[in-house]
Amino acid sequence: MSTSIEKSATLRNFIGGRWVESACGRTEPVYQPATGEVLAYVPLSEQADVDRAVEAAAAAYPIWSRTPVPKRARLLFRYQQLLVEHWDELARLITTENGKSYEEAYGEVLRGIECVEFAAGAPSLMMGRQLPDIASNLESGMYRYPIGVVGGITPFNFPMMVPCWMFPLAIACGNVFVLKPSERTPLLANRLAELLREAGLPDGVFNLVHGANDVVNGLLHHRGVQAISFVGSQPVAEYVHRTASASGKRVQALAGAKNHSIVMPDADLELTVRQIVNASFGSAGERCMACSVVVAVGDVADRLIDGLLQESDRIKIGSGLEEGTFLGPLIRESHKTRTLGYIESGLEEGATLLRDGREDPQAKGEGYFLGPTIFDHVGTEMKIWRDEIFAPVLSVMRAESLEEAIAIVNRSEFANGACIYTTNGSHVRQFRETVDAGMLGVNVGVPAPMAFFPFSGWKNSFYGDLYANGTDGVEFYTRKKMVTARW
Ligand code: NAD
Repeated sequence: MSTSIEKSATLRNFIGGRWVESACGRTEPVYQPATGEVLAYVPLSEQADVDRAVEAAAAAYPIWSRTPVPKRARLLFRYQQLLVEHWDELARLITTENGKSYEEAYGEVLRGIECVEFAAGAPSLMMGRQLPDIASNLESGMYRYPIGVVGGITPFNFPMMVPCWMFPLAIACGNVFVLKPSERTPLLANRLAELLREAGLPDGVFNLVHGANDVVNGLLHHRGVQAISFVGSQPVAEYVHRTASASGKRVQALAGAKNHSIVMPDADLELTVRQIVNASFGSAGERCMACSVVVAVGDVADRLIDGLLQESDRIKIGSGLEEGTFLGPLIRESHKTRTLGYIESGLEEGATLLRDGREDPQAKGEGYFLGPTIFDHVGTEMKIWRDEIFAPVLSVMRAESLEEAIAIVNRSEFANGACIYTTNGSHVRQFRETVDAGMLGVNVGVPAPMAFFPFSGWKNSFYGDLYANGTDGVEFYTRKKMVTARW
């Protein structure tokens, strides 16, 4: 393996096909969340590093954007093979720096690989359209072209999948890319870069600048950057969208979430409990599609709660690298402290704490662990309902009817995902037609769309026009020429 990820080393940036030190001397430790150990130091790069990366990308653009599309696609096929060969290593690295279980990480690598597979369809995806007779002896056609330098800014919770929503499709469409991964999980991005080089990607087409706010601001204001893809929390997404739009860039900014699951009295309870526990506590609740609120309709509430408590007690908490672990640590001590503050606020605001994850004997180790936590009788006036907590904390609410349950869901400022558990088709139809959320699940806990569909949050869960992935992604990473011709 290359030297870019030696233990406790200071990471380097990948610019113009070379590993280079950041121009700035400041660094931040990267912790292993399961142990609190320092894995590496991440440089807090600055404007000079961003300038260097954008320059390298711009220099690669003329040749890469004119490289035949099937040739670009072939490179992605090679990359896909390398990712498959390194699957286990990539999954272990994700678990080490993020904390999620190996099984979850293994699934995340698959999600990343699927994005590369989708992007390798670029020859079909980039095709234009023609109409031979728009008038007598007059024809018209649409041709698709890349847009230039694209900046990608990603969160800590999916170190592989989220960057893979962006750069494979962007470069397949002929763009050049500068990635700013999360400073809390920067290691995996280095492996993605190394494998791109191994696949034969020309220098400068993909660049990596480590750091935090300064790198983000550097990209948002850079005149040489044409588009920004962002995924992260709501306030930052809103800021990124506003700032990059004001500097004339195309922006897609995927934001935070507060996903509700409605459970009807006719639901298959065993399946429902399994799905909700997985969606609420898997990946320590640090998924943008995590279930954080359950709305129980009618008399199902008590039966459902019994099931959730029993299933939660069976969960194995520990290092994600240990076999059988389901619930790993939170990403940082500070995030755990913030979550404990939410548990206190739930108690102060009058919710009933049914299961206290703070007291879980399994959650007492060195890392940033918290057991499954369940509140009952949560109301829409409470902070634990309003805010995204992003941790294994589940709120249960009660409603008399499906209408009332949907009205609760629709009061949230977020609208990423929403699920319904029922065996009644007309409930499903009513839910589908009236709920405000971009990604719906029917008896499915984490309804995250695959790479060939758009990832489509609504309301404050998304800022922009074109979503990530699917044909929306192709639209986002291309611009068009309309040619009207008379011969
Ligand atoms: P975050 O907003 O803290 O960080 C995301 C990126 O923005 C990072 O690269 C970070 O360095 C940068 N950043 C953070 N604060 C900044 C600031 N003030 N100015 C400029 N840049 C800044 O998010 P996170 O904690 O890493 O990730 C979790 C969040 O991401 C959750 O809210 C989750 O819901 C969301 N998320 C959403 C989706 C989706 O598809 N909607 C997917 C994954 C994660």
